[in-house]
Amino acid sequence: MNKLLHALRGMDIPPTTVMEVCGTHTNAIARFGLRQLLPPGMRLISGPGCPVCVTDGTDLAAALFLAHMPGVAVYSFGDMLRVPAAGDSLLRARELGADVRIATSPMDALEAALSETDKEIVWLGVGFETTAPMTAALLLRAREAGVGNLSVLCAHKTMPAALRSLLRDNQRVDALLCPGHVAAITGAEDFRFVPEELRMPAVVAGFEPEEIALALLQIARMRQRGQVELANCYPAAVSAEGNPAAKALLTAVFEPVTARWRGLGEIAGSGLGLRREFAGFDARRRFDLPEFPPGEDAAGCRCADLLRGEAEPRQCPLFGRGCTPDRPAGPCMVSAEGACAAVYRYGGN
Ligand code: SF4
Repeated sequence: MNKLLHALRGMDIPPTTVMEVCGTHTNAIARFGLRQLLPPGMRLISGPGCPVCVTDGTDLAAALFLAHMPGVAVYSFGDMLRVPAAGDSLLRARELGADVRIATSPMDALEAALSETDKEIVWLGVGFETTAPMTAALLLRAREAGVGNLSVLCAHKTMPAALRSLLRDNQRVDALLCPGHVAAITGAEDFRFVPEELRMPAVVAGFEPEEIALALLQIARMRQRGQVELANCYPAAVSAEGNPAAKALLTAVFEPVTARWRGLGEIAGSGLGLRREFAGFDARRRFDLPEFPPGEDAAGCRCADLLRGEAEPRQCPLFGRGCTPDRPAGPCMVSAEGACAAVYRYGGN
């Protein structure tokens, strides 16, 4: 590790802003103080890599609407409960009597559907290519079991279209630290469009400090040599083609749809919608949900700017004052993968 950092620190490179788009990287970079160890000229910023943070207010509003319906139980991963949504949250709804439950796995929702047949069970499906296969497995199992009281409020997203939309013609970002977890599913080749279309180096990285340092060193070398390439610095977990079983699950259940991202807006092809054969499990159809407005962020909140890489946590006037992990005013302070929560906890920028 020390050798890597020494080599990295000693690099003489042109000004280079590296964006990471993975919440686990966001956390690890802050936790290990890696920003303080970069060579002169290199800067690390966070992008839209935290699944909780990028979930749009319209999806949260739909989840809240369902949570308040009698006879409905909404299952979600725990972090989603605390995300503020126009002065409300799923946690607050639960405190007021709504049936909102924390799941450790989507299969918790299936178990509930099988044992509580008088209830409508809704799984709130959020996250990227990493969590979407779990939702796919849930639906395949539910269909096989003939479950009729389970549905999914689907807000899953995929990275490539969002990165194209965010980074095409951008002047802020010079290189991409690719998300190791997503790449483990999709394959490193899924990021080849970054050098080929967006004309910037892209390096797939693991999550240990030395793995991140190695990926940054690779980026620094490319920048020094003027190379624009894709490199996989996480070969232990990421192959060129990805995980065929997980990809088959995704293909069996989902199809690309337009999705709304917090901070990025609507992006064609960046979401996962249920295929027609799973339409009966679509909570939006089952409950005939209207389009919900996104709701207002807290006054001064810069989460949207953060997710576009246009601001850093301490530039938000609410950071550490009106917004802390105990009382988050925006989603980036909720999850350990959020940029604000990571900086609040470990320091740095
Ligand atoms: S400090 Fe809070 S309100 Fe401000 S950008 Fe971060 S999460 Fe959003």
